[in-house]
Amino acid sequence: MITRFAPSPTGPLHLGHAYSALTVWGVAQRHAGTALLRIEDTDRARAKPIFENGIYDDLRWLGLEWPAPVRRQSDHLADYEAVLATLGARGLLYPCSCSRRDIVNAGAKSGAEGLVYPGTCRKRSMDSANPGDAIRLNIATGLDQLGPLRSFVERGSGLPVKHQISPAFLRDSFGDPVLKRKDSGDIAYHLACVHDDALQNITHVVRGMDLWALTPFQVFLQQLMGWETPQYLHHALITDADGKRLAKIDRSRALSKYRSEGASPNDIREMINLPLSSC
Ligand code: GLU
Repeated sequence: MITRFAPSPTGPLHLGHAYSALTVWGVAQRHAGTALLRIEDTDRARAKPIFENGIYDDLRWLGLEWPAPVRRQSDHLADYEAVLATLGARGLLYPCSCSRRDIVNAGAKSGAEGLVYPGTCRKRSMDSANPGDAIRLNIATGLDQLGPLRSFVERGSGLPVKHQISPAFLRDSFGDPVLKRKDSGDIAYHLACVHDDALQNITHVVRGMDLWALTPFQVFLQQLMGWETPQYLHHALITDADGKRLAKIDRSRALSKYRSEGASPNDIREMINLPLSSC
C-alpha cells in the first residue's frame, strides 16, 4: 500500500494541510504502507522554494517522515511533455487561444473545474499551435477511443463505494481540460498528478474533498494512458469556528505561526480533532 501527500508550494501550510497530512500518514500506518511526499510545483509563477522548505519543516515538526528522494515535479517536466506527445500523436489534443473573457462571452456554464470550455477551438489541429496557446484534451475524441469507462472505488466514508463514470458527465462537467497552460506553458496539475500517481505506484490517493469533483477526469486520463487506477479516500475539510473552509490564503492560521507562538504538534492534533477513521 502506497499513498502520498502532494502539496503545492504556493503558500504556507495551514491547519487544513496538517489535517490532510496526518490523515495520509495515519492511513499508511493502519495499512502498514508507505506515505510519500511529492512537491507539485508545476505552477512556476506561484511555486516558491521558501514554501517548499516550509513544507519540509512543518511536516518534520509534526513528526512525519517520508522516503527520499522526494519527487519535485519541476525536475521532471520532460516526463509530462512525453505524455503530451503520446496524447497528441493519438489526435487527443488541440491548441486553444481563448482567454477567460472569450470563454465567458461564449456562454460557458460552470462545471467541476470552474467554467466548462464551450469548444471554440476544438476543430484546430496541433499543427496550428501558436506560442502561448493552451493545450486541451478533447474529451469526445477520448471517449470515441475508449471502450466502456472505468469505475473507481472511494473509501472516504469508511466503506468502499464504487463510482461508475458516465460519458455524459465527463462531457458536460469538464469541457476539455487544459493540460498545458496558456502563456506560461506550465504543465497543468491533472497531467503531472496522474502521471506521478502511476509512476510512483500509488495504490491509495488520500486527499481533501475539495479534489473529489476532479476525480472522474483523472480516472479518465489514467484509462486513456493505460495506467492503473488507485483507490481514493477523500477526507472532510476542517472548518473554522464560523464553519468556513480554511483556505491557504488564511495566513493567520499558517502552521509556522502556531509554531512560533509556542504551540506543540500535539496542540495541532487537538485543534484539528482528527477523527479515528476506520479507512
Ligand atoms: N497539489 C494539490 C494541492 O495542493 C493536491 C493534489 C492531490 O492530492 O491530488 O491541492
